Amino acid sequence: SFGSIPAMVEANAKARPTHTALVLGNTQLNYRQVAQGMRQVACALQRQGLQPGDVVAICASSSPHYVLAYLGALCAGVVVAPLAPSATAAHLSAMLANSQARLVLRDAEVAAQWPVQDNTQVQCIALDDAPQAGTPWSAWLHGIAADAQPAPIAPQPDWPFNLIYSSGTTGVPKGIVQSWGMRWSHVQRAVTNGYGPDAVSLCATPLYSNTTLVAALPTLALGGTLVLMRKFDATQYLQLAQQHHATHTMLVPVQYQRLLDCPAFDAADLSRLQNKFCTSAPFKAALKAEVLRRWPGKLIEYYGMTEGGVRCELHCHDFPDKLHTVGRAGPGADIRFIDEQGNELPPGAQGEIVGASAGMMTGYYRLPEKTREAEWFSASGERFIRSGDVGQLDEDGFIVLGDRKKDMIITGGFNVYPSDIESVLLQHPEVRECAVVGVPSHAWGETPVAYVVAQPGTVPAAPALQDWLNSRVGKTQRVADVVLAEQLPRSEIGKVLKRELRDLYARTHA
Ligand code: ATP
Ligand code: MG
Repeated sequence: SFGSIPAMVEANAKARPTHTALVLGNTQLNYRQVAQGMRQVACALQRQGLQPGDVVAICASSSPHYVLAYLGALCAGVVVAPLAPSATAAHLSAMLANSQARLVLRDAEVAAQWPVQDNTQVQCIALDDAPQAGTPWSAWLHGIAADAQPAPIAPQPDWPFNLIYSSGTTGVPKGIVQSWGMRWSHVQRAVTNGYGPDAVSLCATPLYSNTTLVAALPTLALGGTLVLMRKFDATQYLQLAQQHHATHTMLVPVQYQRLLDCPAFDAADLSRLQNKFCTSAPFKAALKAEVLRRWPGKLIEYYGMTEGGVRCELHCHDFPDKLHTVGRAGPGADIRFIDEQGNELPPGAQGEIVGASAGMMTGYYRLPEKTREAEWFSASGERFIRSGDVGQLDEDGFIVLGDRKKDMIITGGFNVYPSDIESVLLQHPEVRECAVVGVPSHAWGETPVAYVVAQPGTVPAAPALQDWLNSRVGKTQRVADVVLAEQLPRSEIGKVLKRELRDLYARTHA
């Protein structure tokens, strides 16, 4: 089966026009208002001559107009490229050039740090009506009647839906072409997870990230209420969850940690918030266990990537003895493991994870070389996407995830996995968070060093930590240095940026 998300939003507006679709800050929009805004945006795009397959970029904090712009573009068959406002101006300009977007919708805050002006290729629209960001939203929609109807489109599963730039954790962002079919597969998965008209789905990550979109778009397609936060704050999250009787939530691991650490957590009534999801970064087994213990209900972890292909899920509540894994291949997904030469490995052997599933990316936009590097073909010719992550199957078919290949350390010819060292270090009572990275070494090529964030109220000594650790790990895993830090550098959705730690170490310890 195949369905169109904007058509479903339209159907929801007919069935329950006054049902709340979106809550963001002080704004609440019902389905009639959302469908109307969506159609007006589609009309504005068509008035400018945009056709299905053309691209618009959106670079802004989450806002009601952001949601309307997104849905409106889809309604006209126009491809949305959501750009991260936190990216550097140089990266944003590179993404914009790659995308060949004809419109940039942004807000004043983004305009201040990314001074793109209207030119022959692109026009800027100010989502927040701030003139310095571009043509004000209200002027852009001027003259389009409240009941205006855009020219209908007939989307197909292989049409491009999104152009999502990878988070750039390991390098320059690449534009991932996601199809309407891939997005539809997320809606189908959401149905099995109980999303529907009565769902109230609280998302605390920014709208541009795939993590948010996998929950937010199905919520609206299935007629539920989407509650967004412009910026995550644990106390405010708990208030919103209770005030709106949230039933579903998508959070990244650091957000679970912040919530459990929040003094207001134990007194909050989260009894309705039974459906919890997590993805995008390593989720420690101990943290999953703590969530299960202190926050009853379901906890589902997804392991996957924006490119699609690899799709795994762990229903933590059903498998409390598998919390050290990322679960098994999801419905319709095929997961395999390959060696450095691209040979498929037998079950249980450790190697790079590759995956095939419904609606995986067609490729990186206008980067055929990078696309080829990301593909792997099985002996029978099926196409898989490479994850860049190392892992292996356990005896029950659950995937034990190792490190990203790019983070693996080669010291004296041995492969050392940072996560093996990190998991030992985390057992130290004074270690709250840590990250191990490889730094250049004259004698060994590379050598591991550890960055440590201490437990609040403790003041560990780096040399003592180093001795403690080095007496518990293998010879090649011994770290050459322990550096105490206030916090680890993280992306906006909570991924530890090991690249930045390597650069930092080179700058400060050269
Ligand atoms: P780039 O490809 O630009 O370096 P990225 O890989 O971080 O960025 P995403 O597609 O957002 O961009 O993230 C996918 C990656 O996130 C996976 O390859 C994996 O390393 C990590 N990841 C996703 N889910 C999980 C999870 N449940 N546990 C551990 N890691 C995860
Ligand atoms: Mg990636």
